[in-house]
Amino acid sequence: MSDTQSELKRLQQLLEVPEKAEWEKTIQLLLRLMGEDPNREGLRRTPLRVKKSLQFLTSGYKQDPAKILNRCFRVKQDEMVIVKDIDVFSICEHHLLPFIGRCHVAYMPKDRILGLSKIPRLVDAFAHRLQVQERLTTQIAEAIQEHVRPHGVACVVEASHLCMMMRGVQKQNARAVTSSMLGVFRSSEKTRSEFLTLIRGSLV
Ligand SMILES: [Zn+2]
Repeated sequence: MSDTQSELKRLQQLLEVPEKAEWEKTIQLLLRLMGEDPNREGLRRTPLRVKKSLQFLTSGYKQDPAKILNRCFRVKQDEMVIVKDIDVFSICEHHLLPFIGRCHVAYMPKDRILGLSKIPRLVDAFAHRLQVQERLTTQIAEAIQEHVRPHGVACVVEASHLCMMMRGVQKQNARAVTSSMLGVFRSSEKTRSEFLTLIRGSLV
C-alpha cells in the first residue's frame, strides 16, 4: 500500500462511527484512562449503562423538529401563547457535562397554533444533543418561526452548568441566561416586555 493509501485508510478509520459493540469498548478504555479497573465488580456493567444513558441524552439527533411541529390548529388567535418553566437537561459540547435549567417560550400566532405539548417536545429534541446554551435557545426559537410562521417567537433559557460548578471557576450559583427574540418580540418593546413580565416570577 502506498503512503497515501495507508494515510487515507487511517483517516477513514478515524472518521468511522463506532459500531454498537465499540461503545462499550470505548467506555472501558475511558475507565482505564481514568485509572480504574473496568473489570472490578462495581464497574462491570458501567459501560453498558453509560452507553444507554449517552444514547438517550443524544437521542435528539434522530428527532426532526419539522415533524414535531407539523400539526398546527387553524385558529383565529392573536394573543401571546406562553409555555414557561420547561425543564431543560442538556450536555455541554465543550466538556460533555450536563447543564440543567428551565426554558420559557412564547409566540404570537398569526393564523395557527401549536398543541401545547409540542413545545416541550421541541425543547427536548434540541436539548438532547451536544449543545451550547446560546445555540439551543436560538434553535428553539428559529424552529417555531420557520415551521409555524407566527408574528414572532421568544425563547429564554436559564441554566446552571456543571462544567462551571464542579470545575473551572467553581461558581455554584452562577446561572447563565440566554434569549432569542424574533419578529414582534424583537421589533416591539411592548410585546417583549409583556413576555418578560409574564415570565418574571419564573426567572430566578
Ligand atoms: Zn462546558
